[in-house]
Amino acid sequence: MQTRFHGLFLILGLVISQHAGAAEWDSQSSNFQIRTFRGGPNAQQLLEQCERLRLDLQQVWLSEADRRDWSPRCQVIVHATKASYQTAVGGGGAQTSGSSLVQASRGVIVNRRIDLLYDAKKGASALPHELTHIVLADRFEDGHPPRWLDEGIATMADSQEKRTLHHRDCHDALRSGDALRVVQLLRLEQFTSAKQVPAFYGQSLSLVHFLAEQDEPTKLIDFAEAAIERGYDRALRDIYQIEGIEELERRWRKYAWNTGARAPQSLVSFVR
Ligand SMILES: [Zn+2]
Repeated sequence: MQTRFHGLFLILGLVISQHAGAAEWDSQSSNFQIRTFRGGPNAQQLLEQCERLRLDLQQVWLSEADRRDWSPRCQVIVHATKASYQTAVGGGGAQTSGSSLVQASRGVIVNRRIDLLYDAKKGASALPHELTHIVLADRFEDGHPPRWLDEGIATMADSQEKRTLHHRDCHDALRSGDALRVVQLLRLEQFTSAKQVPAFYGQSLSLVHFLAEQDEPTKLIDFAEAAIERGYDRALRDIYQIEGIEELERRWRKYAWNTGARAPQSLVSFVR
């Protein structure tokens, strides 16, 4: 099974061209293989940044037993042009600057890959978000957490500016009545209308904050895993002592109204 996560949208079952040959890496470490371009970011510095970010993300979201070395390593390809980036990630990535791919076979991850579109001013700014998807994949049998959790947690690694916009989207959706019901948010796999997109990202980020404040952040992953095994109502009771999705809806909405449009401090320390 494979799913490709673009910076903004999700495309299921997309087959991509593997145009990065095995011998073409500019820099390699135990967990990453980097390919950049002439005039682009320094491969060795990017490699060190990837290793640091991976460690930081693992420390926040994964328990110690889940912090394993990656085999296969994660391929990181930095593209100089939009044309090259889109050829690699497919048409669904047209509005994005980062994309991640995890493929799993029989419960084992067989491919990890990140494509980044380089920007002279912002650099490879999508890296922390996309790398979060790759880190979280380690805890799930098919490599894919529920979408709201995956995007909510990955969005915590975005810049302050981006997170502020997502929180504003959440607040606007609540005020306009366009907010998704929590039961809908938890099960959303594919968008069916354009206005769901800002509400989904904003609410996912807000819900992740709410749950992460109830207990240790690593419990969020236990919670998602338990929900896959025995449903959300049971998982909410077992992990957070919340009496099912309806009570979660009530408590989260109260939290979100009280939070307002401001962005709470991210739990990921490297975010400024
Ligand atoms: Zn994402």
